[in-house]
Amino acid sequence: MQIARSVEELREIRRGINGTVGFVPTMGALHSGHLSLIKEAKKQCDFVIVSVFVNPTQFLANEDFGKYPRKEQADEILCRASGADLLFLPNASEIYGSDEPSIRAPKTAGFVLEGSVRAGHFDGVLSVVLKLLNLTGANKAFFGKKDAQQLVLISQMAKAFFLPVEIVACETIREQGGLAMSSRNEYLEEAQKNEAKKLSFALYEASRLIKQNVLDSSVIKAKMSEVLAPLSIDYIEVVDRDLKPIKTVVSGGTIVLIAARIGGVRLIDNMWV
Ligand code: AMP
Repeated sequence: MQIARSVEELREIRRGINGTVGFVPTMGALHSGHLSLIKEAKKQCDFVIVSVFVNPTQFLANEDFGKYPRKEQADEILCRASGADLLFLPNASEIYGSDEPSIRAPKTAGFVLEGSVRAGHFDGVLSVVLKLLNLTGANKAFFGKKDAQQLVLISQMAKAFFLPVEIVACETIREQGGLAMSSRNEYLEEAQKNEAKKLSFALYEASRLIKQNVLDSSVIKAKMSEVLAPLSIDYIEVVDRDLKPIKTVVSGGTIVLIAARIGGVRLIDNMWV
């Protein structure tokens, strides 16, 4: 596995690649969720680039940019073991100039759900992803369904700007008890991890109801909030694949989403129906 720390190094290596390029952008502190994306990329592409970059522009002023886990050595070992061919570790100063334009997330899909609690977050996400897609010249880029809204917005951007890349959606990887893997799970103490399982339990409850043909969103949301109690809920929502709230679940066209707080830690999870 090669390592590039600058744009010039990345470009130099990119020029020498023949065959299809798969790209997995991450913020590091890699876990099995990230590794599943790398393995999928390896299955589908000849050459796999992974980036580790804690992107400052997607953190709001009051968020955890400073304390976000950074584990460069472990990440390097895990990337190598998962079959990555190139690890890109850029510097913020090279990725961003000063006072430059930013991609703006769409007013609707970008400012609901996560975007309503984290206004501006998706401007930062879309801007960095566009830069990284341009730099890597990837044929396919792999994203987790775990971050559903991010995945939808990136897919919409790729379509709207005719980007020459296929966005591939990958399943959420969970710990044994159901908790969706996340680099932010490291902030949770053991007892809090137990509480955090309630997010997945609420989604299982939604799944159970839907299988019984209970398709009314308000009924599903009410049952989910019973399962989540007494956690502090930011939102429970049932939306279509464009993130618009829907009254009735449609199989193949629905996402059920949760954001909740445990202590100071904010967690998200979702289920694609
Ligand atoms: P992050 O490092 O959190 O920015 O995530 C990088 C990529 O990994 C994104 O596409 C995430 O959606 C994906 N990802 C994060 N957690 C999981 C998970 N538990 N299962 C699958 N993909 C994930």
